[in-house]
Amino acid sequence: MPSVLTFTFIFLLITTTLIRLWLGRRHISYVQTHRKQVPAAFENNITLDAHQKAADYASAKTRLVIIEAVVAALLLAALTLGGGLQLIDDIWRNLLPTQEIIRGALVICSALLVSSFIDLPFEYYKTFVIDEKFGFNKMTPAMFLSDLVKHSLVGLALGAPILFAALWLMQGAGQYWWLYLWLVWSVFNLVMLAVYPTFIAPLFNKFSPLKDENLKQRIETLLTKCGFKSQGLFVMDGSARSSHGNAYFTGFGSSKRVVFFDTLLERLNVDEIEAVLAHELGHFKHHHVIKRIVLMFLVSFLGLALLGWLINQPWFYTGLGVTQKSDYMALVLFLMVSPVFLFLLRPIMASYSRKNEFEADDYAANHASAKELVKALVKLYRDNASTLTPDPLHSAFYDSHPPASIRISKLAAYTS
Ligand SMILES: [Zn+2]
Repeated sequence: MPSVLTFTFIFLLITTTLIRLWLGRRHISYVQTHRKQVPAAFENNITLDAHQKAADYASAKTRLVIIEAVVAALLLAALTLGGGLQLIDDIWRNLLPTQEIIRGALVICSALLVSSFIDLPFEYYKTFVIDEKFGFNKMTPAMFLSDLVKHSLVGLALGAPILFAALWLMQGAGQYWWLYLWLVWSVFNLVMLAVYPTFIAPLFNKFSPLKDENLKQRIETLLTKCGFKSQGLFVMDGSARSSHGNAYFTGFGSSKRVVFFDTLLERLNVDEIEAVLAHELGHFKHHHVIKRIVLMFLVSFLGLALLGWLINQPWFYTGLGVTQKSDYMALVLFLMVSPVFLFLLRPIMASYSRKNEFEADDYAANHASAKELVKALVKLYRDNASTLTPDPLHSAFYDSHPPASIRISKLAAYTS
């Protein structure tokens, strides 16, 4: 059995990495081939310069993703089959021979730390080299560092209790520990959804009530017309970090709020903002958020049930390079390895998400204006330097949003 798992894991790790590389190469070459000319549908609104900037931005980002995929695959192989996790475990076993729960937490934190050492340079490069070059970056290295510290502290404050709860249940709750852990995890997630907008997001950004009276009135009218209650309209200082624009809904139940990036308000006029908001409302009205949460609960239930079985199979450890069986090792192995096994589900998730986008667009077309939404989208594509000509296969595999041309031609059909 170890050899079957080892073989399958190596096979999938290599295949999925090759697929990533192949899709990335395709995307870059497609984008570069279409770089010379603005697609006909956008000719009047997007200059050749802007189009070429988007092409080069997409290519630069994709090149980085390709390198990152290779490095991540090598790191995962080194941590598992290469014996890295076992080595981390050995070190902590020497320092802390008893106290399995604390040792488990330390082993898991060490493994996460090693992974983040690899992620960090990529994030830094993306922000300070790529985004900087294309004029999107507003961060300073000091801010990057303070964000990192804040993120780590918040992650520790929220993650430590759930990690200890997991290890404690695994050790002492008997055969159905995974079911109890699933309940704890689900409650934790619901609480997070409720407290995130009011308590956590403000640690990173400033949120101020929307002041523009004219805009406020338009939005309130739209919200009432759509039967939507929110806990307020807020403007977020997105411009402190990046000049990319966005708008979103956040929270759950009574903590629901509408958040606009200041960058979005600067660039769109009132009609366009109303259309963008109507699109976001469409997501709520079609219960996309709830469906996503239910799906997440279902996936974590299946995952934990599977882990509840795997934890007792000796080949699960030996097949992935771990010689000494333990609860925490099962947990960390499972978290690290499962994305490799789930990678091929990505296109299904992406296509589901794109279907949701069309539904939200449809809602916006019926409750605001399809024409204004098109105008807003074109501005956003332009200002965010999103490519108008993604490789169709790359897009089908990864993109949560439909390609610009398809989305806009569907919206245009409402107005004609
Ligand atoms: Zn959307």
